[in-house]
Amino acid sequence: MNDSLLHLYELQKVDRQLDDLIESRGELPDRVNAMRQQVDSQREQIEQMRRDIRELESRSRELSAENTDLREKVDRYKSQQFDVKTTREYDAITFQLEDGQRRLHTNTESVGRMGIELEQLKMDEQEATQNLSEMERDLDEAQTALNEVLAETEHEEKDLLARREGLVKQVQPFHLTIYNRVRPAKGGIAVVPIKNGVCGGCFNAVPRRLALELKKGEKHTVCEYCGRIIIGEPIAIAVDGEPQPVTYEVDNEDFEENDNEFEE
Ligand SMILES: [Zn+2]
Repeated sequence: MNDSLLHLYELQKVDRQLDDLIESRGELPDRVNAMRQQVDSQREQIEQMRRDIRELESRSRELSAENTDLREKVDRYKSQQFDVKTTREYDAITFQLEDGQRRLHTNTESVGRMGIELEQLKMDEQEATQNLSEMERDLDEAQTALNEVLAETEHEEKDLLARREGLVKQVQPFHLTIYNRVRPAKGGIAVVPIKNGVCGGCFNAVPRRLALELKKGEKHTVCEYCGRIIIGEPIAIAVDGEPQPVTYEVDNEDFEENDNEFEE
């Protein structure tokens, strides 16, 4: 019997168990990841809001300080208006006065607008912070649930991965390459036994000459229809035990569960 093919077929069995194990964890790992990303993005948004608030506050302070200066200047120009000797001087002071008043007016309006904007931003920031703490609490809960699920399957996963590692070393790279390419594309089944002369994966007939070559378990062939590696029955029996009738694989557990639901 070809050892590489035997170990390849065993490897597939281990990989199927690993697939089932990961599936048994359900959507929880994905959900926890998504929640973590949302929390991160919420934190970033809050940081941005806080930066905006600080910037707005500092600009508003600057404008207020400028206004204090402007008010002093305007007052000074007003009193100077009465001390001028010539019309030209009067016009110059008036121009300065009006310019100062205009800037004071614009600045005061800006400070007022910034005040409203700041108030809104601070409310938004508070709300976002409150939401963040709720999101963090939900994430903690989901992570705890996930940790429990992982703890239940962790030991089994380690065992399977160790077996996998051992098997991979005993498979010829040539076989492994086909396996790695075909398995993801074919629902996790890359190696199938020949059953009653047909491919155990797609149930198309294997040419008679090739079928005969598989008999001793020394060779494999690649199904010309589905691309899976077809092995001879001796290998399948060595790994799976007694030959089974050609059927589609069904998940018995799901069927049992459904039955129970109907009974209730
Ligand atoms: Zn096939």
